[in-house]
Amino acid sequence: MGLKIYLDGKLVEKADAVVSVFDHGLLYGDGVFEGIRSYNGLVFKLKEHLDRLYESAHTLMIEIPLSKDAMEKAVLETLKANKLTDAYIRLVVTRGVGDLGLDPRKCHKATIFIIADKIALYPKEFYEKGLTLVTVPTVRNHPEALNPQLKTLNYLNNILAKIEATNAGVNEAILLNAQGHVTECTGENIFYVRGKKLATPPPYVGILKGITRDAVMALAGSLNLEVVEEVFTRHDLYTADEVFLTGTAAEIVPVVKIDNRPIGNGKPGQKTLALIKEFRKITARDGVRYEI
Ligand code: PMP
Repeated sequence: MGLKIYLDGKLVEKADAVVSVFDHGLLYGDGVFEGIRSYNGLVFKLKEHLDRLYESAHTLMIEIPLSKDAMEKAVLETLKANKLTDAYIRLVVTRGVGDLGLDPRKCHKATIFIIADKIALYPKEFYEKGLTLVTVPTVRNHPEALNPQLKTLNYLNNILAKIEATNAGVNEAILLNAQGHVTECTGENIFYVRGKKLATPPPYVGILKGITRDAVMALAGSLNLEVVEEVFTRHDLYTADEVFLTGTAAEIVPVVKIDNRPIGNGKPGQKTLALIKEFRKITARDGVRYEI
């Protein structure tokens, strides 16, 4: 049995899951999306992902033709149809089909599709050895140009940064904002640990308010860490005890080198490893249950 894709209210075969070349998601990157994970029959933070999707759509004035409850059902149905207990779910809503101009008023109905597939895990060595990062010349989108808090289909800012990291021969890119403050990586939020402090940039510097980020911030207290959202520069990362990244797909990944400076002792940090352990406990326990 091939993959079944949810497309505008129907579950269709992968080969039939096609959208129009006039869809503004394709022509202009005009749309929003979420990347969601399920663990052993539990969808992690589904409500938070749906809230963020509808908030991004609201700001872009994209009307989603499904209630949140109906969207939740569609996600669960897609998982069941594919008999997946551990999945990566990509939920996409585009402005829909319009004409060749960019006027969104010409698009009368948003397109919705949901892909649920096996999770492609990051290599184990990322977690064991840690990642190497560079800061890249591409600046994170200015919040008043295209706010990084919106999870839109326009990821070119991130893609350019990823190309620069790859060209530099490292795993990931750190993007600064126009003021030189650390924002985030191409698809992950960034944290540093110094003593008992766990710091991460506030959303207004220009980041996506990650759902894994929020989950990690909520866990910090149980590990005797004090969370602060603060504006900081690369120096704070270079001199931190530990640095790690968070994201739905990557979960929590240690960082061991930034711009050729080793971080801490150059190995994944103890607090980072403890957070990974706690995070695994909540992903195994919390979430919206579905039976396949
Ligand atoms: N920043 C960016 C730019 C991202 O694309 C993602 C992945 N969605 C994240 C951060 C992490 O967010 P989350 O924890 O909600 O997956």
